Amino acid sequence: MIVLKSPQELAVMRQAGRIVAQARRLIIEAVRPGVTTAELDALAEDSIRRSGATPAFKGYHGFPASICASVDDQVVHGFPGPRRLREGEIVAIDLGAVYRGYVGDGAVTVPVGEVPGEVLRLLEATREALAEGITRAVAGNHLSDISHAVQEYVESRGFSVVRDFVGHGIGQKMHEEPQIPNFGPPGRGPLLKEGMTLAIEPMVNLGGYEVFIEPNGWTVRTRDGKPSAHFEETVAVTAAGPQILTAE
Ligand code: MG
Repeated sequence: MIVLKSPQELAVMRQAGRIVAQARRLIIEAVRPGVTTAELDALAEDSIRRSGATPAFKGYHGFPASICASVDDQVVHGFPGPRRLREGEIVAIDLGAVYRGYVGDGAVTVPVGEVPGEVLRLLEATREALAEGITRAVAGNHLSDISHAVQEYVESRGFSVVRDFVGHGIGQKMHEEPQIPNFGPPGRGPLLKEGMTLAIEPMVNLGGYEVFIEPNGWTVRTRDGKPSAHFEETVAVTAAGPQILTAE
């Protein structure tokens, strides 16, 4: 069942989303060669808690940290740790906050210093694919219109969309129905309605779309070892069109 949110609930979710966006900005500003992903995690947790929220990821099915930090060929669900980021890498940061019982969820992929041109193009294509998907989050569209728009954009730029992990509905739980694939034909799935809240999150690979899970049971990597990017926003379907809740 897809849970529709009232305008009052959307107002709280906007606050949760703002808290995520503020922490995300702090992390973007802190990424540089030499910083550890554990330091980025501490920065995010501190920012979220100072805003009166709690980190949504910490302890979620046993996840050990407040952010996921996925470097280069790690796709999602990387564990923060003592490893220092190096010039030329990319780091995908995913974070969530719970505020007054509602969850915001967002992600960004950040270059560490200077990175190769094709990797910058990967980041840009993923960000743009997300933006394309968001434009389809309109009442009366089908859910897969979002999926299709993301896939079409990504593949037009020569990259590939991860199949094994998808976006999701969000609200009082971090993962609600529906699942939101980043691929597939348009015109399928449930009709979008006002009050739906969706975490749209393309995961895009420079090479092939195949992935595998590391022995820690969490961290997803590309099969071919090439880099992967991840961007995510929490979006509400409203009478005024799609509204990004993870915004400052
Ligand atoms: Mg998510």
